[in-house]
Amino acid sequence: MSLLKVSGLGKSFGGVKAVDGIDFELQAGELLALIGPNGAGKSTTFNMVNGQLRADAGSIRLEGVELVGLRPREIWRLGVGRTFQIAETFASLTVVENVQMALISADQRLYSMWRRAADHKRSEALALLDQVGMAAQADRPCSVLAYGDVKRVELAVAMANRPKLLLMDEPTAGMAPKERNELMALTKRLVVERGMAVLFTEHSMDVVFAYADRTIVLARGRLIAEGRPHEIRDHPKVQEVYFGSGKTFEKETSIKEAA
Ligand code: ADP
Ligand code: MG
Repeated sequence: MSLLKVSGLGKSFGGVKAVDGIDFELQAGELLALIGPNGAGKSTTFNMVNGQLRADAGSIRLEGVELVGLRPREIWRLGVGRTFQIAETFASLTVVENVQMALISADQRLYSMWRRAADHKRSEALALLDQVGMAAQADRPCSVLAYGDVKRVELAVAMANRPKLLLMDEPTAGMAPKERNELMALTKRLVVERGMAVLFTEHSMDVVFAYADRTIVLARGRLIAEGRPHEIRDHPKVQEVYFGSGKTFEKETSIKEAA
């Protein structure tokens, strides 16, 4: 059985079919890229999976359990995590405090009352920070970190819930190419080591081709292609949407949409 099975999923805003009956599956230990031009329906899809938006049609099953109709907190408890921007919330806390907060929150799900809350999960938080290469900066406030390092902490915070599926909507937005590659290499390592599944969106084709196990392509709310990177690259419908040769498709997309 697939970890995630999405069938006939749809969502309209007014007259706009933002997501128009899509089907896809995701396996444990798989890094799946969801790509497509701006406005294709990627974020809407993410927000239906995490429960921020309610689907109008279709089904989203996690290990056979229907997620449509559940609240975000319930979906999170079932093991669907997402990266949050620390900048907006706990920038004044230190790196390790952010992860400790997430661990305490996750523990309410796990009912591990036997653990002494008094240690505030510091050692566990440090272990997670070690996995993302941030243990050495544990006691610095998040507000002073480099952008790429904040993103690593956000990943550690998301891992605290031990998600089976992690959703990352544009995780590398605003990053330089080197930072993008480092973050995705780290994500890939976590996928392999933990058998976690990741669904992510990304504008750089180079990043998608370098790290995704498989890619699905959305355009105007519909899935137009699916496959391994080399299959996607040469797919006629994908070429049509992106004007083919572009290394990143943001530019080509805006030209297309303006036309
Ligand atoms: P993407 O993430 O691929 O850029 P979105 O899922 O954000 O695309 O948007 C898909 C379509 O749905 C767009 O036409 C967008 O304008 C529309 N849309 C998204 N969210 C809303 C909303 N909350 N209210 C109205 N329209 C929305
Ligand atoms: Mg989006």
